[in-house]
Amino acid sequence: MPATPAWPPQSAPRLFVETVLGAGVSVALDGNPAHYLVSVMRVKVGDTVLLFDGQSGEWAAIARDVRKRDILLECMAQTKPPESVPDFWLCAAPIKKGRIDLIAEKACELGVARLQPVLTRRAVVDKLNLERLHAHLVEAAEQCGRTALPVLSEMVKLDALLRDWPQGRHLFFADETGGTPIAHALREHSGPAAFLVGPEGGFDPQERESIRAHPAAVPVSLGPRILRAETAAIAATSVWMAMNGDWNSQ
Ligand code: SAM
Repeated sequence: MPATPAWPPQSAPRLFVETVLGAGVSVALDGNPAHYLVSVMRVKVGDTVLLFDGQSGEWAAIARDVRKRDILLECMAQTKPPESVPDFWLCAAPIKKGRIDLIAEKACELGVARLQPVLTRRAVVDKLNLERLHAHLVEAAEQCGRTALPVLSEMVKLDALLRDWPQGRHLFFADETGGTPIAHALREHSGPAAFLVGPEGGFDPQERESIRAHPAAVPVSLGPRILRAETAAIAATSVWMAMNGDWNSQ
């Protein structure tokens, strides 16, 4: 007897939408999302599309009406509950365009709850296109199966970040001049956390001093080599996720 095909199909396109999802909710799409579904993925009436809105989990929706430039979908059943996001923030200095995009993409895939850009003195970039970064977060979430997008915060200056630091959150400071080896530091400090990673030029001595003086700061070493900022951000996030995050759950 032929096996019953899996529903929803594993190959169904997956899309972030702004509409709050629920059983029976209609989702009308035009513009880029409709172009992606209709012209790129060739969705036809009756096909299944997976949708998520960042808060209601993931839903299988059926295409009810398909035109060249718009598409109407109807939410049928929840396929994933809202995800529980590990309490980890990545605080990263802005770096050159393609590289900060890479940080956003990987931060989302690795499971961060918040991406906090932090302006430091040696940053070679002092403006960020948050819309572009948001688009990278959305694309990464669509691809990796996340149902919640990381929060993308406005860029803040380092002194403001330190001044307004929330009580009870460890601030692991990736310090290329040395610190506690990362695995050791993470074993000793569980709970809500953030990693602070500098720009291409690193932190200046005064910045390093004020970070180290902060009561929440834990200076951490990522090994004997100087990593590029994006490598440091990805490596630190990965180690935290493996040791104190959700990489131990099935
Ligand atoms: N310009 C600096 C230098 O030559 O010493 C290097 C800065 S590094 C490219 C960018 C950021 O990555 C640093 O500010 C730090 O946050 C992090 N980083 C790189 N290598 C690291 C290491 N071995 N341990 C801890 N943090 C590191």
